[in-house]
Amino acid sequence: MFNVETIRKDFPILSRKVNGKPLMYFDNAATSQTPKQVIDVIVDYYSNYNANIHRGVHSLSQEATDKYEQARHKIQKHFNAKFAHEIIFTSGTTHGINLVANGFSSILKKGDEIIVSALEHHSNIVPWQMLCERTGALLKVIPMNQEGELVMTEYNKLLSKNTKLVFVNHISNALGTINPIEYIIEKAHQVGAAVLIDGAQSCPHIKPDVQALDVDFYVASAHKMCGPTGEGMLYGKESWLKKLPPYQGGGEMIAEVTFEKTTYADLPHKFEAGTPNICGGIAFGAAIDYMNSIGFDVISKYEHELLEYATSQLSQIDGLKFYGTSKNKASVVSFNLEGIHPYDVGTILDKLGIAVRTGHHCAQPIMDYFKIPGTVRASFAFYNTKEEIDALVTGVKKAKMMLS
Ligand code: PMP
Repeated sequence: MFNVETIRKDFPILSRKVNGKPLMYFDNAATSQTPKQVIDVIVDYYSNYNANIHRGVHSLSQEATDKYEQARHKIQKHFNAKFAHEIIFTSGTTHGINLVANGFSSILKKGDEIIVSALEHHSNIVPWQMLCERTGALLKVIPMNQEGELVMTEYNKLLSKNTKLVFVNHISNALGTINPIEYIIEKAHQVGAAVLIDGAQSCPHIKPDVQALDVDFYVASAHKMCGPTGEGMLYGKESWLKKLPPYQGGGEMIAEVTFEKTTYADLPHKFEAGTPNICGGIAFGAAIDYMNSIGFDVISKYEHELLEYATSQLSQIDGLKFYGTSKNKASVVSFNLEGIHPYDVGTILDKLGIAVRTGHHCAQPIMDYFKIPGTVRASFAFYNTKEEIDALVTGVKKAKMMLS
């Protein structure tokens, strides 16, 4: 039985005060909070078996290696990859995207086409622009509509035999829209294009099945799903990962090195040069265990209730306009108060202990589309409560009064 008060006890940070008020944390889409089950794993690592992995014969090194590889298996199981070596540890979503973009530098040629969407985070735009500059490929954009949904009829028109890659986020961080990735993947495959799904925002809400999706690449960040920052994963189909060249050279990623020729290690090590964030990987595994112990069905059902409640309460405020009104949404509300800069609203909320994000959310093209500088974004996690949402609504009303 899901009991939010019991869950909240797992998160030490939720009992702290900010500006003399109890913290109400609604910036979960930027980074989620960390339960003690994960914090304990981090403390245990540095207290008891901190050592470099894969190359030591001594016991600590073997212990750390075993735990790190167990974490890889947990991630494999969670995302339902066929093989553990299809999971590459990264420093986060951004790293995973750059790894793939870099790999395609040697595959794409002039005139090839890459499709991204109008709903992307900058980390799913800039690496592809850089790839286009390197290869002469063309970047095309799936447009969005006023509800913040991608227009699939336009997507279909963009696809052609020249399309080599399609990159879309599973859930938009700025608006919360859940994109029809099953359809996007199927259509891309019909023209022979590979698909990368940016799962940075879906991983806290949905348990994706990469085999059922038949997706070529899927990337996620641990810190969005109760794990540590600076840690993440790239799933890639074995056939693709074998085809792509290494991203970085260094220790750990080689089979043999001479000054004449170096051969590369097998997967996954080919893409894991240097000493990784060992503790981060192990803690990522612990975060996955933690979230699965609650259950993603339970989490998304509860978060949906929070979304509906917040939407109905906030919509009663005169002059409040929502951005991103798709019916298919994760627990994110993005809004503005008429005539008031989002930054000012965020500053007043902070004084009340309420953490929201303000600005363009690293998704400037979305803001340009709506002709606004940014929004106030409240993103809910399974440890938020309706009482906190009541406080948010009161805070927004207060901000409106003070700033109008
Ligand atoms: N894509 C999306 C949709 C995101 O929300 C984020 C994080 N805000 C990223 C990519 C980048 O993730 P990271 O900073 O963990 O690499």
